[in-house]
Order: sequence, then structure tokens, then C-alpha cells
Amino acid sequence: MLLRSKYLLINPETLVENGFVCVKGDKIKSSGKFSEQECNGEKAIDLGETVIMPGLVNPHAHLEGPETYGGTPPPGEKRLLPFQSFTDWAEQIITMRQRMKPEVFIKTTDHGYALLAANGITFVGDHSHIARTKNIHANAKIRRVVFEEVTDLNPLTAQQRFDEVRRNVKLIKKDKFLGIGVAPHAPYTVSAELYKKLYGFAKQQNIPFSTHLSELKEERELLTKGKGKIRAYLKRVGRDNYYWRHPGTTSIQYMAKIGVLRPPSFFVHCNYLSNKDITILAKSGASVVFCPNSHYFFGHRNHPFRKLLKLKVNVALGTDGLGSNEDLSILKEMKFILDHYPGVTPTQLLRMGTINGLKALKATAKLGELKPGYCADIAAFPLKHKSTKPEHLKRVLIETSPKSIITVVAGKIIHRG
Ligand SMILES: [Zn+2]
Repeated sequence: MLLRSKYLLINPETLVENGFVCVKGDKIKSSGKFSEQECNGEKAIDLGETVIMPGLVNPHAHLEGPETYGGTPPPGEKRLLPFQSFTDWAEQIITMRQRMKPEVFIKTTDHGYALLAANGITFVGDHSHIARTKNIHANAKIRRVVFEEVTDLNPLTAQQRFDEVRRNVKLIKKDKFLGIGVAPHAPYTVSAELYKKLYGFAKQQNIPFSTHLSELKEERELLTKGKGKIRAYLKRVGRDNYYWRHPGTTSIQYMAKIGVLRPPSFFVHCNYLSNKDITILAKSGASVVFCPNSHYFFGHRNHPFRKLLKLKVNVALGTDGLGSNEDLSILKEMKFILDHYPGVTPTQLLRMGTINGLKALKATAKLGELKPGYCADIAAFPLKHKSTKPEHLKRVLIETSPKSIITVVAGKIIHRG
């Protein structure tokens, strides 16, 4: 397959005008400035006024719905009601999930994969419940790490829950497109005992470990003092536990204390960090996934990712689920940053949306660049604007955040727009 376009982004730094990518099997054979000789007269798919680039990477999604905010609600369900707080929102989601029929989880996961492909995303990390959605994950066309998400605050049932996770992750077969991960939900829903077991398992199996961390202002109150709005919410939804003891410290310091704050962990959100948390996080080598639109949806204060980037923390971009986002588009996540966080360049954003996500997901294949020998994971976006200034073109791409007109994974077209 030979693709041609007005622009080719070989990696976030390198933009070529009048570019081509030649794919043989599942790899890039050659790429660069188009010429007949270079391409041996092979017939090209000419994509015209577009930019061809490496497929985008979304290390944090919840595809199994409920898709109530941005998409069509599941059959029989209404859209989310206006909410006062995160806990108010979470209660609505929990109630909705308890009522959802098994086929709705399958349908929403399938829809999620299609939406990712339409947005040029070729690699996703999805927090899921494998037992109910295994067939959809097994047959998806996108590269993926399927994380088994678990909640249980009771330290006395940690072993039982851990055994369940180990059973569930065996329900789908790993291959070079499908990896498995473990995802304790958050420090306010999972005991230290279960965190430690899951981390040990991830380390031993060399698989990614993902958890929501420092997402909420109230999370700190619960973890440092053992009380507040989250405690009341846990009681209301039946997730509080008599045997759970608050650690008396912030989420980051808690993770460090129980030995989880190091690779292969990555931490989703990290919205509320003290200076001490930032120093500890930067030394840990763990990755952070920032979800800008979901962050805005819940009205959190400015995210400290620029400080983290300065300290060389690997910060990637995620979409979170459709319960707190209108779309599953990494370009739209970049756009939000461009509009609201001065001082971040389009090149930096493109790195966060590709290479940094791959690092968080512990991708081992050659991905994230369109160079010979790399895996042919490609997206192409329409770009009407003409400019010879690379940084300006990248900015236009992010600002317009179009849908992909062709998405390719391992040399196979998985979406045509
Ligand atoms: Zn999430």
C-alpha cells in the first residue's frame, strides 16, 4: 500500500511536504518526499490535502460506557442529570451500570472502538471488566491493553478479589495486538492489601498497572483524615468498609509508602498534587496520564502537568470515558491544552498524544514514527490550510481536530472516513 499526501509527519518533530508512506505487510517499507522512482511506480492512494501521521495513542478510556454524556444513552436510559459534584455524578453512573443489561456493555465497547478508529487512534488502554466484554476486546482491530478494573476497600477480601482478577485476565488471549493490564480503581475504593497484590502481579508478569490517582480535592481529605464527602459517598453506595484505615497521607505519598509508585505503574489524572508529591512523582519514573476534557467536565483547578514535564515526567494524554467527555479524540485533548494552558507547543502535544502514551502503556513494538522498519500504524487528517511553517501546520491540525480519513493498524485499513 502506498499513501500520498500534501504533508507527512514522520514523527512529532519532522514534517515533510508532498510526502508518501509505503507499507509492506505490517511494516513501513519507506517514507519521505514523494518521487516516482522512490516508489517504483506503485499506484498510490492519493489523500490530497491531508497530513499523514503516526496513529494517536489513548492510554486511558472506559469504553464499556455508559455513554450518557457525549453519545446516545444506552437503551432505556436517560442522559445524566446535571450534577453538583463528582460523587453525585459517580452515584448516577453506578446506578445506571447496575441496571444495564450485559449486551449494553458489549455494544458500548464496540461503539467505543469504532469511535477511536474514526479519531485516528491506533492504540488504546481501556479500563474494563473482561468477563463481560471479552469477545469485543478479542476481536477489536486497534492495538490495545485491556485493564481489568477492580474495586474493593475491604482488606480482608483482598486475596479473594486478587484471585478473581487473575482468573479474569486469563479469559482473553494475549497477542501482539492485545496486552493485558491490571487497574485498581482508586485509593478510595481499593485497599492497600489489594494494591500491593496487583502491583506484585503486574511486576512479575511485566504488564502495565493503571490507577486513578489524586483526581479529587476530597480524595486528600479522606486519605489524610479518613472523613469528608467521599466517605459519605462510599457509605451511600455501599463501598465503605469498617476494616479500612485511612493512610494519613496524600495519594502519591500513600502509593510510595506501599511500594506502588514506580514502573510499570501509570497514574491517571494527578490533578491535585503538592510540591512534595511532584518531587516524589518525578523521582519515581512512573508515568502520568492527563485527561484534559474530563478534567474540565468536573471543574478541577489547573492541572500541574507543565511542572511535571519540566521535571521530565512522562505525561501522556487520555480521553477517560464518554461519561465525562463528548468524544474519544486525542486531538481534541491537545486542543483543550492549546486553548487553556499557555506555553505548550504543538510538537510537545503531539509527543504527549503518541510517544508518551506508548511509553505509559509499555509498548514494546516499534511504534510512534513512520520510518522504515516501524509498524504501519497510521492516521490521516484533512488539512485545508496551506503553510510552509511546520509548527503552524501542527497547530492548525490540533485546532481543527478533524476526524481521520484513513486509519491503519499493522498495515490494515481499519477505518475510512
Ligand atoms: Zn477513568
